[in-house]
Amino acid sequence: MSEINRNPEIKYTQLFINNEWLNSENGNTFETINPTTEQSIARIQSADNRDIDKAVKAARLAFKRGSVWRTIDASERGRLLYRLSDLIDRDADYLAELTTLDTGAVYMSVSQSIVRVVKIIRYYAGWSDKFHGKTVPADNDNGRQNKLLAITRLEPIGVCGQILTWNTPLFSLAGKLGPALATGNVVVVKPAEQSTLAILYVASLILEAGFPAGVVNIVPGSGQTAGRALAEHMDVDKVFFNGSTRVGRLVQLAVGQSNGKSLSLETGSKSPLIIFPDTDIDSAVLEAHQTTFNNQGQTCCKPGLIYVHESIYNKFVDKSVELANKSIVLGNPYDSLTNFGPLIDGRQYEKVMSMIETGVREGARLLTGGKRWGTQGYYIEPTVFADIEDSHAIAREEIFGPVQCILKFSTIDEVIDRANNSDYGLNAGVFTDDINKALVVASELQVGKVAINMHRSFRVQMPFGGCKQSGFGRVFGKDCLREYLNVKSVIVKINDKNLLE
Ligand code: NAD
Repeated sequence: MSEINRNPEIKYTQLFINNEWLNSENGNTFETINPTTEQSIARIQSADNRDIDKAVKAARLAFKRGSVWRTIDASERGRLLYRLSDLIDRDADYLAELTTLDTGAVYMSVSQSIVRVVKIIRYYAGWSDKFHGKTVPADNDNGRQNKLLAITRLEPIGVCGQILTWNTPLFSLAGKLGPALATGNVVVVKPAEQSTLAILYVASLILEAGFPAGVVNIVPGSGQTAGRALAEHMDVDKVFFNGSTRVGRLVQLAVGQSNGKSLSLETGSKSPLIIFPDTDIDSAVLEAHQTTFNNQGQTCCKPGLIYVHESIYNKFVDKSVELANKSIVLGNPYDSLTNFGPLIDGRQYEKVMSMIETGVREGARLLTGGKRWGTQGYYIEPTVFADIEDSHAIAREEIFGPVQCILKFSTIDEVIDRANNSDYGLNAGVFTDDINKALVVASELQVGKVAINMHRSFRVQMPFGGCKQSGFGRVFGKDCLREYLNVKSVIVKINDKNLLE
């Protein structure tokens, strides 16, 4: 492995519209901060309504009837995506260095995640010429047979706005770009303010890969201005939003009050992980620990509530605390021994600290952590709470940070009801050696995905997404293609008059 550059050159800070690098119309910029040092890294051009409009117009032009993008073979779209995946693979080290600088995510984890990013784009490249409609045995009006040809066509929706959050920027980008482009759409991406650098570098790879102008536009800017302008835009056909449930609701409003565009939402979560006693407790403790503290707890699918059967509860809690104290190495996220970095920014730090204080105030038992680590950077120690009651705020609200919440349960019915008594429904995990019990729980939980004997279970081939206030629509898998396709019915009356006469 080549030596890690902890001070990677910042090559792109402008808006990427119509395959060109542009300053924002109003000349505004915003600062991006290194969460490890709290120092400024760079100033990025900040889009407003006019820039969003420019990007939408470029995308619309690229989608016009007869344009290069509309007329190339589907397999050629796949070839461009394969080329993009190869370029990301080529520059993976630099992309990981940039991401660590910008987000504080541990370099080793980011490197592993870029391997998945490449796989996601390749997976969708392969789909480009393999999705298709149906022939349908439609009824004849006059009772005569074989007079109709009825088919469905799957067609791209058009201009897709993609509003992203910051926790896994490249992973999130790949999960949006791959299916949208494979199905022939054009996109305007609004990255999160906290994590634009690596995404802007990918824009340069899109140019290098040879995508026609306007097919992919990347416009950084604030949520209230650029994000809102995209959600409200009258010429955007679809928005895929990734972020908090609160902002997801604002996006729903903007969509309803503008042109009623198609919408998919990937929002908050409070995922249950249920541990029955008939399991290997050490494996369960380890999985709960790793999935809770991965990326400093800033992952949507992490176990927000860990329900442990009363017969193994004390043992599970003791082992979890021991692991949190022994196996986590806080430090500079570029260091190879570090497995835990800072949170993304001061706002997130304050939010998580406030939830920890609420937990203590409401009477949950704080067993380790709960404090700031060091004097520089947005670090919070890995924190473990036990003896949490269902009514506590930390049992009901998402904590997007390094906090493990362990609860006790007695019966299978009780734990299913408690796990379902949640505003959220993204994913869940179950640990048991009894496959029947596991499958009963899996079928009863109101969530979009259940993992058995594991919790984090990302596979690009498997659809992922929520129900209830975790959103609607799916990323990944074949199902995700449907998020970007309209079904058109075409029905033909076969004119056999001359043949019969
Ligand atoms: P956020 O909701 O504050 O911001 C997300 C994006 O929305 C950003 O790009 C932001 O600029 C933009 N935005 C803000 N205000 C807007 C507005 N009025 N109109 C349009 N866009 C606007 O994100 P956050 O709270 O910092 O992100 C963390 C959340 O994301 C957590 O709740 C987490 O669970 C969720 N998340 C969910 C998934 C999933 O798969 N369900 C994945 C990752 C993160």
